[in-house]
Amino acid sequence: MRIGIIGAGPSGLAQLRAFESAQRAGVNIPEIVCFEKQSNWGGMWNYTWRTGLDEFGEPIHGSMYRYLWSNGPKECLEFSDYSFDEHFGRPISSYPPREVLFDYIQGRIEKSNARDFIRFNTAARWVSFDEDTQQFTVVLDDRANDRTYTEVFDYLVVASGHFSVPNMPHFKGIEDFPGTIKHAHDFRGADPYIGRDLLLIGGSYSAEDIGVQCHKYGTKSVTLSYRSQPMGFDWPKGMEEKPLVTHFEGDVAHFSDGTSKRFDDVILCTGYQHNFPFLPSEYRLENNNCLYPDKLYKGVVFNEQPRLIFLGMQDQYFTFNMFDAQAWFARDVMMGTIALPEKAERDKDIAKWLAKQDAIETPNDDVDFQTAYTRELVDSTDYPDFNLEKVAELFKSWLQDKEEDILRYRDKCYTSVVTGTKAAEHHTEWMAALDDSMECYLSDEEELKKQKAS
Ligand code: FAD
Ligand code: NAP
Ligand code: MG
Repeated sequence: MRIGIIGAGPSGLAQLRAFESAQRAGVNIPEIVCFEKQSNWGGMWNYTWRTGLDEFGEPIHGSMYRYLWSNGPKECLEFSDYSFDEHFGRPISSYPPREVLFDYIQGRIEKSNARDFIRFNTAARWVSFDEDTQQFTVVLDDRANDRTYTEVFDYLVVASGHFSVPNMPHFKGIEDFPGTIKHAHDFRGADPYIGRDLLLIGGSYSAEDIGVQCHKYGTKSVTLSYRSQPMGFDWPKGMEEKPLVTHFEGDVAHFSDGTSKRFDDVILCTGYQHNFPFLPSEYRLENNNCLYPDKLYKGVVFNEQPRLIFLGMQDQYFTFNMFDAQAWFARDVMMGTIALPEKAERDKDIAKWLAKQDAIETPNDDVDFQTAYTRELVDSTDYPDFNLEKVAELFKSWLQDKEEDILRYRDKCYTSVVTGTKAAEHHTEWMAALDDSMECYLSDEEELKKQKAS
């Protein structure tokens, strides 16, 4: 049996780790090949300074930016088979910057031979399925050697992420806006916006985090324009929320409450598309960002073609640990240790989750939904159990912390459900922490004082 994996971000790496853990337990594992179009693993966490196209003319996958710190407590995403304590050898704070989380993701997989399974600089271009052989043929493009070739697989795991291809709505008059306009996907840090008047369109995590970062680094004013509902945080002076932009007139944006303001720059924080250019239309997910994509049994197995698996396609409260739960489940389905029920049963199960999703009213309900979903997966495999219900409480505290102080919630310390260790206070308050490098993050206070003095 041969298994193909598309993408070596946290989800694809979770799939490799799931098989590795079975192998360590003495199980004979199938042949696995993972294709990653970037030159390194880590997906979103593999920072690139580039925007637009990469060195081979491939669309840039990365949407992360400089000075990005985790937006949820690390205790909510901790791998249950590889703790932060194990990786760093001491407690660290609850909200580490990107490079530190990248190091942690990498640390778990580095100890195995996973790298040997991954073909870097290789993009999946097209997938077809042969009904007679019941196999997928994948057309691959080895960008570094400018060579295309095909490979055949019995199962295909799509772990290509869904926060990369921008959703770019049009606003009347925006074509005449004289300042810079970009999508959050192309944002690489606050530096160009210092001293300027910035408009962010969108009412979710990107708008919030880019807005707060720009405020922190000295953008003159940040205006957040929402479509459905305001985020409603107690914004500091210099930040404000407005309802949706109706149109632009030159450098002036008009809002639906009749007010207007002049801006230097616009960033569309309007979310991302589920985008699968390498899949024929019958295999594509067409939903927007939601907790339960409707074609997936247990959120993982493509119901019309169960040899096709999707990882990480949900909107995410839980991240790395949920990808693990999914990957372990997918592994057991592919190895036959979990038998799939008949399609009618699977349809019923999907309908049950979709009805639950429809009943969601509050962010706390979101958390409970994804906790129950992940719980079901963890219970069905040998992924090391962890106290998911306690993690759900952490998420709810986190939501509360943000309500209390959107600029300071990252200074809070949480306790790990994996090790019982309480996070260490960071040496610098988040609002004062301008250097997001791992070196600075891990340096101790004394060292830091010396650095400042010299
Ligand atoms: P990705 O990380 O997107 O990885 C997908 C991989 O597939 C990429 O490496 C890509 O190059 C590859 N790929 C895509 N198409 C192809 C192809 N055709 N052929 C070959 N390879 C392909 N989560 C958190 O837990 N905490 C955070 O603080 C946080 N911050 C975030 C900030 C931003 C700006 C964004 C956009 C997301 C953030 N996330 C955060 C969520 C993040 O998406 C997940 O943490 C995680 O990266 C998802 O993993 P993934 O493997 O599913 O997808
Ligand atoms: P998102 O959560 O899917 O939100 C998309 C937003 O765009 C919604 O507010 C939506 O408004 C709005 N929108 C869509 N179409 C619009 C239109 N035509 N006009 C106006 N508004 C429109 O996407 P996201 O905020 O980019 O977040 C994506 C992921 O990145 C999340 O997982 C998040 O956690 C992660 N992230 C993390 C950090 C970090 O700090 N580490 C930073 C940024 C992002 P409606 O509500 O009206 O639909
Ligand atoms: Mg279990």
